[in-house]
Amino acid sequence: MGKTLDDYVDEILKVVKNVSREEIKNLFTQWIKYGYSPETVKEKILQRFKPEEKIYKIRDLRNNMENVNLIGKILSVKEYSKDGRKYYIGSIGDDTGTITFMSFMPVPSEKGTTILLKNVRTGMYKDSLRIYISEKSSIEKSDVKIEGTQKQLTIYTVERLTKNLRNIDITLKILYSEPVQGKERTIYKGLGGDTTGIIQFTSWKENLEKGKTYRIKGAYVNEFKGSIYLNINENTEIFETDKEIDVKPISLAQAVSSNLSYAYLEGFFLGVRDIEQVKKCPVCGRILNDTTCPVHGNVEPKFDVRASLIFDDGSDVAVLILYQEQIKGKMIEEFVKEMVMKPYLVFGKISKKNAITVFPLDINEIDSEYVEVLKNELEAGF
Ligand SMILES: [Zn+2]
Repeated sequence: MGKTLDDYVDEILKVVKNVSREEIKNLFTQWIKYGYSPETVKEKILQRFKPEEKIYKIRDLRNNMENVNLIGKILSVKEYSKDGRKYYIGSIGDDTGTITFMSFMPVPSEKGTTILLKNVRTGMYKDSLRIYISEKSSIEKSDVKIEGTQKQLTIYTVERLTKNLRNIDITLKILYSEPVQGKERTIYKGLGGDTTGIIQFTSWKENLEKGKTYRIKGAYVNEFKGSIYLNINENTEIFETDKEIDVKPISLAQAVSSNLSYAYLEGFFLGVRDIEQVKKCPVCGRILNDTTCPVHGNVEPKFDVRASLIFDDGSDVAVLILYQEQIKGKMIEEFVKEMVMKPYLVFGKISKKNAITVFPLDINEIDSEYVEVLKNELEAGF
């Protein structure tokens, strides 16, 4: 037996006060005519008449939320001006986290002031979740006591990271890091790991140096093209530590299935597929068919030699592309010949357009002691 109109109206009136039954009923009937389901109509009416009831916690905020109410303590505010219009950027915190806000309304500038924000919205700005305070929002001082604004951090390991996690406390050994020049600033992208796995990261703050281990507090997880990465922003705290972390490589199959764009692999080079001379754009390094770069137009190409090697780690096979330019003090033909049938650790960018292709950033032969262990395992019947 379905609910009747009066049932819905009763449910709404249990929550919404100061509005007549008549008014709720009329509104309900009207919205049903627009084609909304009764449940949706109920939600809409509750939202309209009772917006100040729901106070969100910072931890629960997600991208693209509207009509959000929040109580938080001002942690910082800075005034800016553009085209004669003032705006404010700062951060507020509650007992579940902190968040950056951008406001077109004056915000109390005294640190520690607790405010009630009504009708703000959330959005992403440069990979960070923000709240936006507009003319439609209101800002009131509040008497609510906030028990400190320490970020409630949770310690994670790589294998437990999933999309949209926030306030992560994680310790990572950095396997690779490179600066990427953005429009306004340099950011750092790379790969870090712990004993449970590896993860890509983007740092908007500082470079994390290869080989060092850092405790990263207050990072969060984002997703780009189906692949998750750890996001480090200005509010993330980074401490170098002496903790020893033994990062384990992952398999090619796993790197591909988890859509990693960087991978840390361990395998053998089965052979050299070919070695050829190529033309590269002198600016961006793209491989050119003639003298035209799709980005830089007509250029004087640079010549390089490219070797394609077959890399096998037992889970899958990839083509590894190595350039003479990457090798110092040796001819590539000699260099790759010596790699064949030896185990290597490879850090690199991975792509899977047709075949799996690995563009190495670092290649290290695995030490002989380890090879002995491998051999023994193989002889033991693997
Ligand atoms: Zn180019």
